[in-house]
Amino acid sequence: MAATSAFPLLMRIVSASVAASAKAAKVVRSVMKKGDLGIVEKGKNDLQTEADRAAQRCIMASLQKHFPKVVIIGGGGMQLDPNEKVDQDIESLKLDDVSLQRVCPENLTDVRDEDVVIWVDPLDGTAEYTQGLLDHVTVLIGIAVKGKAQAGVICQPYYNYQLNIEEKLGRVIWGVIGLGAFGFERNNPPEGKNIITTTRSHSNPIVTEAVEACQPTEVLRVGGAGHKVLLLIEGKANAYVFASPGCKKWDTCAPEAVLHAIGGTLTDMHGNQIMYHKGVEKRNLGGVLATPPPASSHQWYAQRIPQRVKDALPLNK
Ligand code: AMP
Ligand code: MG
Repeated sequence: MAATSAFPLLMRIVSASVAASAKAAKVVRSVMKKGDLGIVEKGKNDLQTEADRAAQRCIMASLQKHFPKVVIIGGGGMQLDPNEKVDQDIESLKLDDVSLQRVCPENLTDVRDEDVVIWVDPLDGTAEYTQGLLDHVTVLIGIAVKGKAQAGVICQPYYNYQLNIEEKLGRVIWGVIGLGAFGFERNNPPEGKNIITTTRSHSNPIVTEAVEACQPTEVLRVGGAGHKVLLLIEGKANAYVFASPGCKKWDTCAPEAVLHAIGGTLTDMHGNQIMYHKGVEKRNLGGVLATPPPASSHQWYAQRIPQRVKDALPLNK
């Protein structure tokens, strides 16, 4: 195999993120196994656990070691203490060979360190994690190039956990726009239904009004932006509708890239593209509206969002 440095930067970041997310998933599971979640309330309806903190330390340390010049932004604004001792096995985490060997899309072969911002959500769906709804939890690593989501990793630490078979536990899904998305079975949503997925722990009357305006035949209220986009790419829901400014850029960067890699669409509720450059407003003020392909499906939902709902959500910066 060629020296790692021979591979394009973007594919090296993707493969390091695949490896780091799998390691972080182990960290998330081990905190739960020990039983002391160390819950801290960051704000109203906004929790952080020892699993968030430990998984974040793991991902940041590994990515910073591999890519010291790339900007990495971690969920919740947690910063890595430069004096903190990081386990040797985390710092020396190897890149994932399978993703590294994939051919980088032509337009992304010459991406430089300064073009990239990595958005890390070490544990998306924290509320559900604390309530034992373990398959709602994901580890998200989004890779933005020149402000746009281009690649992402959605790792599900508890995928298949009901089976109780160690080797089948957890999965890593990753994608690059122009290359595709891998690690899951792609299905189309069921015909004749309009299944909408939305928040279960951060709802309000505007969120509900937007969902109802989309004429759902069924509403799936589940945790996590990552988990909801998994429902879209696996054909279990027709749209993800969240008319609230509560999601952050680290919640949407990886899911957006994976969804777009299969031809889907994730925007704010106004239908505008979400930006991910360094220094951008970290909240998704305009909410989230996402659909699997075809693109016309996204327009169908966007047209049904009432003006009253849109007026309640500022335009994204
Ligand atoms: P949910 O769909 O409620 O699981 O939210 C998806 C992501 O956005 C999670 O990381 C949540 O923590 C975050 N989020 C959504 N709404 C809020 C809110 N009102 N306050 C804090 N975080 C939120
Ligand atoms: Mg999150």
